[in-house]
Amino acid sequence: MKKSTEMSKDSTNIKVDDVKLYINGEFVNAQAQATFENSNPFTNEVNNLVAEGRKEDIDKAVIAAKQAFKSGPWGSMKMEERMVYINRIADLIDEEVEEIASLESIDTGLPIAQTRKMIARAAENFRFYSRMVQSKLHGESYPVDNEFINYTIYKPLGVVGLITPWNAPFMLETWKVAPALATGNTVILKPAELSPLTANKLAEVMDKAGLPKGVFNVVHGYGETAGAALVAHPDVEAISFTGETTTGTIIIKNSADTLKKTSMELGGKSPLIVFDDADVERALDAAVWGIFSFNGERCTANSRVFLHKNIKDQFIEALKERVGNIKIGDPMDPTTQFGPLIDKEHFKKVSEYIELAKQEGCEVIQGVVPEGVKAGNFVPPTLLLNATNDMRVCQEEIFGPVMAVIEFESEEQVIAAANDVKYGLAGYVWTNDIKRGHRVAQAVEAGMLWVNSQNVRDLRIPFGGMKSSGIGREGGHYAIFEFYTEPKVIHIAIGDHHIPQFGKKK
Ligand code: NAD
Repeated sequence: MKKSTEMSKDSTNIKVDDVKLYINGEFVNAQAQATFENSNPFTNEVNNLVAEGRKEDIDKAVIAAKQAFKSGPWGSMKMEERMVYINRIADLIDEEVEEIASLESIDTGLPIAQTRKMIARAAENFRFYSRMVQSKLHGESYPVDNEFINYTIYKPLGVVGLITPWNAPFMLETWKVAPALATGNTVILKPAELSPLTANKLAEVMDKAGLPKGVFNVVHGYGETAGAALVAHPDVEAISFTGETTTGTIIIKNSADTLKKTSMELGGKSPLIVFDDADVERALDAAVWGIFSFNGERCTANSRVFLHKNIKDQFIEALKERVGNIKIGDPMDPTTQFGPLIDKEHFKKVSEYIELAKQEGCEVIQGVVPEGVKAGNFVPPTLLLNATNDMRVCQEEIFGPVMAVIEFESEEQVIAAANDVKYGLAGYVWTNDIKRGHRVAQAVEAGMLWVNSQNVRDLRIPFGGMKSSGIGREGGHYAIFEFYTEPKVIHIAIGDHHIPQFGKKK
């Protein structure tokens, strides 16, 4: 058996350690001694067992996190000292990029060439927030008529709950953990049950970094039990959630009783629009990468591609060729471009949508899964031709490698169609007319628009969606000012301003 660190170019016969909960600085079993199996999407064999945390484990983690915040060393630590920890976490991730990327690929089926980049980026999340908090996390002051000075300070919230999905798990977890810790909160992370391995690795990193006990806790388990207990806990001040829209609505309802602050990063059905004056070759690169990288399991994927009628035929011919050439294979092979879906259930869901597309009248074109790699949950890169925006396959999030191709004639028509969907996460516009680029980008209802660009992101910009794609934004100063801290206003009188003398004898 190979250990994950010794892995080479194949996913078979790999030994992965069982995963425990990380509470109050210790790796522990669930109190009920419950476990669940974690499978390898490429082989469909069991990788390892995972401790299944439940309400009592969440309770224990909250006590530890509250103690660390209120009277423990984290709450009283100087900012500079806290940042030493944050930067140490980044360095430790960098040292272990290969190991973490390997575990991520084994766990999710994402190709190792892609997970390596994501893990390196995760380390940068910590460095970024160390810089950001030190330079930007300060309040304002308002002198008022020589009578008062009002000033604001930004205080951490306390114990925050972070609930994350299985796609790009390590990176998405660190998007939340880094600003939460850097601003001085203590954390309970509830990772997705389908991808527990790298969250465990993050706990190991925190442990090695010497983070004080209780500052960072990981409780694995199911959403309906561990996740729901975190959401309902009265001592958890806020929940930052990334996942499906339907889950987001449940969490908002369940957090109402304890009046929690919530942040919602939810699903998408993002349009990519190619006008007939666009650089078609670059648009093609972006369209293919945008839906078929990360196995199509990507919230910002361009699952609806709108092609102007003048370039449609040539674009579709090129798409067909690309789809046939994407290298499908073992996620651990560095030359693999495309791996299996996360699990059998998701494979079934995506496959059913492809069947539905046929019933709705689409022509389906797919890449071919090579012989010998069919054990996993492979849905090859898929094109749905002759699609129309009103079809269910164009309205519902499939969250797989499925691109619906829709023809359009005019700018007005394509804007209306792009917006005729409940989601509003991302959008992509391809045109060489600068005025049209701005116009369409401003008109498409989405939180993030890219013009003549693939989905690149600077950590300073707000990430998130509108409509059913979310509430709030992650990233940059949005995370630190609008979510992980609370403004507090202090009014100081500097003169003897008039105070009404209520009830005083003259
Ligand atoms: P999911 O909603 O099924 O699960 C996400 C997390 O929520 C998991 O940890 C799960 O255990 C937990 N959960 C489930 N029910 C819960 C409950 N009742 N209470 C508390 N927690 C609960 O999502 P998924 O299938 O893991 O992820 C895929 C989805 O995530 C897609 O819709 C995708 O678009 C979305 N996503 C969005 C973004 C974004 O930034 N907008 C990024 C990545 C993924």
